[in-house]
Amino acid sequence: MINQTNRTLEEMENVTLMWLPGHTGLEKSEKVDEMAKQATSTNEIITLEYTKSKVYGKIKEWIWKKWKKEWKAKITCKYQEVFQVLREGYQYQNMKRREETVMNRMRLQQTRLNAGLFKIGRHENGKCSTCNKIQDLNHFIMDCKETEDLRAILKDAREDEPLSLKEIFNSQSLPGILVEYTK
Ligand SMILES: [Zn+2]
Repeated sequence: MINQTNRTLEEMENVTLMWLPGHTGLEKSEKVDEMAKQATSTNEIITLEYTKSKVYGKIKEWIWKKWKKEWKAKITCKYQEVFQVLREGYQYQNMKRREETVMNRMRLQQTRLNAGLFKIGRHENGKCSTCNKIQDLNHFIMDCKETEDLRAILKDAREDEPLSLKEIFNSQSLPGILVEYTK
């Protein structure tokens, strides 16, 4: 029954799980009661297809897919390119956990910045009040007068080479600095 439920959930786009009162004489509700009772009296051991970690994996995958879909539906922008590289390039072998933290942090950051607020009608022009330039992630990390200290830290920590936003995200050590900075 659990396996079947999981498959059904996978196939359907919009599913709402909710509590329903039992024993109300509804045909399907009675059927569920009956099946539940049956299950408690059976000696048969059923192996679940889904382990705990598999379920976590499925949920993550689902969230990612949904996010990606929404992402693609929106206007093309710099972040798209940057994050695409980050996700599909797997630059951080065995560092997916941190990669995720960075991505989440930056996604959050991006929506909080004025350019993000402007997109949802919550800022008058999307510009940085200090610099009078569009305050997007690129501005915030690479250009803003208010984050000169961030760039100083990045400059100290970087291996060599001049930095672009893409290079920061694809570096081994620099994303950690961003996470710290935007905490
Ligand atoms: Zn600025």
